Amino acid sequence: MSAKQVLIVEDEKPIREMIAFGLKRAGFEVREAEDCRSARALLVDRRPDLMLVDWMLPDMSGLELTRALKRDRETREVPVIMLTARSEEGDKIAGLDGGADDYVTKPFSPRELLARINAVLRRVAPAPEGERIDFDGLALDQASHRVLVGEQTVPLGPTEYRMLEFFMTHPERVYTRDQLLDRIWGGNVYVEERTIDVHIRRLRKALEDFGYDRFIQTVRGSGYRFSVRTV
Ligand code: CA
Repeated sequence: MSAKQVLIVEDEKPIREMIAFGLKRAGFEVREAEDCRSARALLVDRRPDLMLVDWMLPDMSGLELTRALKRDRETREVPVIMLTARSEEGDKIAGLDGGADDYVTKPFSPRELLARINAVLRRVAPAPEGERIDFDGLALDQASHRVLVGEQTVPLGPTEYRMLEFFMTHPERVYTRDQLLDRIWGGNVYVEERTIDVHIRRLRKALEDFGYDRFIQTVRGSGYRFSVRTV
């Protein structure tokens, strides 16, 4: 397997170089950008496997860049870890709601950063086709198109199944209604965004009997996320 590529977007050269050094030593391929403009230029050449985005950048905030990346069809699947000197809880939530997959507060050790990177890469790795995926006892069996809790099948309509399948193969990330429509119904179908809310409600209702409705989380102002963590 070829080396995973990380794009670092950080204007402070010593920090950028320190991160790049640590990542190269850990076997990653590294590209560096000092602002959002050069990051976007690099993204045109090749989509990285992950991006580290500093919050405070000279031309645009890292949060704005992350939002823009997550809106763009070409880049929205690229996981983003935000780097920041801020540590307030509100900023962390803003970062995650903006589409960041994780958040590392400066100063951090290279080891900590590496652990976070590996965790995010594991999380976003697509599950092989047909595999059984399990989250705390809620199991998706793609071979039989069923969702199981122990021996019991969770009764789901075809759309709720597709929705849950999408969520369970793309966990811990926020998707807007628009993105969900695109990914679950396909881009060409005309479906109103509120349709999503109807199916989310049905899906939660079906999961509620098994105590798993908490996994389908509403992210205020953004969309929905499948997460085993409580916010
Ligand atoms: Ca900075």
